[in-house]
Amino acid sequence: MDKKGLKFNTKTIHGGQALEKAYGAVMPPIYQTSTFAQTAPGEHLGYGYARGANPTRTALENSLASLENGTHGFAFGSGMAAIDAVLKLLRPKDEVLCTNDIYGGSYRIFKGIFEHYGITFKFVDLSNPTYIKQHLSTRTKMVWLESPTNPMMQLVDIAGIANAIADKDILLVVDNTFATPYLQRPLDLGADIVMHSATKYLGGHSDVVVGGLIVKETALAERIKFIQNSSGAICGPMDSFLTLRGIKTLHVRMQRHCENAERIAYFLKEHPKVAKVYWPGFAEHPNHHIAKKQMSHFGAMLSFTLQTEAMEHTKKFISRLKLFTLAESLGGVESLVGHPATMSHGSMPEEERLKNGITDNLIRLSVGIEAVEDLLNDLSYALDEND
Ligand code: PLP
Repeated sequence: MDKKGLKFNTKTIHGGQALEKAYGAVMPPIYQTSTFAQTAPGEHLGYGYARGANPTRTALENSLASLENGTHGFAFGSGMAAIDAVLKLLRPKDEVLCTNDIYGGSYRIFKGIFEHYGITFKFVDLSNPTYIKQHLSTRTKMVWLESPTNPMMQLVDIAGIANAIADKDILLVVDNTFATPYLQRPLDLGADIVMHSATKYLGGHSDVVVGGLIVKETALAERIKFIQNSSGAICGPMDSFLTLRGIKTLHVRMQRHCENAERIAYFLKEHPKVAKVYWPGFAEHPNHHIAKKQMSHFGAMLSFTLQTEAMEHTKKFISRLKLFTLAESLGGVESLVGHPATMSHGSMPEEERLKNGITDNLIRLSVGIEAVEDLLNDLSYALDEND
């Protein structure tokens, strides 16, 4: 049977996987080894030194490639390590155009590290793909998109941007962490590189920090492979195993995540103490049409503001929650609440943060897969008592 034509929900379990040869183990073993015996100088059974490749990591990398409809996957020690590897494809004087509402850590590595090496980053409004033309120059070598964005849940028309730069030598990179390949597959929409913080939905259980890159072209894959091996920020065998195990339930988890988030989004929207809810599933969301076009559901991340702008009320609301844990990160089975201004976007200058709508009273939810009634009760209690 040709594994290429498998449906997504089968690929999460079987995509890119081969049965283990020694004993037929159904799960790839954790090859906790740094090196492999050589049969003769320079000859080995496929693996030499584990920075270059490790069979457990290969299983994860093949799974990632399969899920995103790519040809090559790469697993890194964190999402940031994956971003770092992508940026190392650039040269001094190159320019990157980015959506202006991105993860704070991406902003930090762009401005705080790679700008020192002579690469410039321009943050622009890409809510309409035609806007990109005015920003392109001969120096533009990469476009960096996040869709949906963190934490304002704005969407970018990935196919529209891909078409707008199709005749140029520009790499289109999409951070697909929030959507996951369950909801959106950027390579199919024209992107060159998909990036993941697999720490989030792919791992799915808040027990690993892992990054991923997926491409669909061999020459680009070779360049990334070179960087991965040379810089060495690889994903270890244990974390590869755990991430692979998480991926096997990605489709069922995502379905429940999205259903729960939809119920919560509408609940918050109707609540008198809530001012605004940012979730692309609402018909009036400015990018709803894009969500309908490129995603199969609207995701399980949402942000909202309370009617009151007073910080003490925001803090009080968060402290009253019992099931939503106040913690960094997202995408695990358990529901989390975050305060972007001091957490995920704490490293962004205040002026930049406020320009993007990340006010002090903005609250972000990562909706888990608990019984939605319990989550609604938790929110309801925290809101109603918040006077
Ligand atoms: N991209 C997005 C959208 C994220 O939310 C994060 C982390 O929160 C990252 C990248 C970085 O990933 P990691 O924390 O795995 O290094």
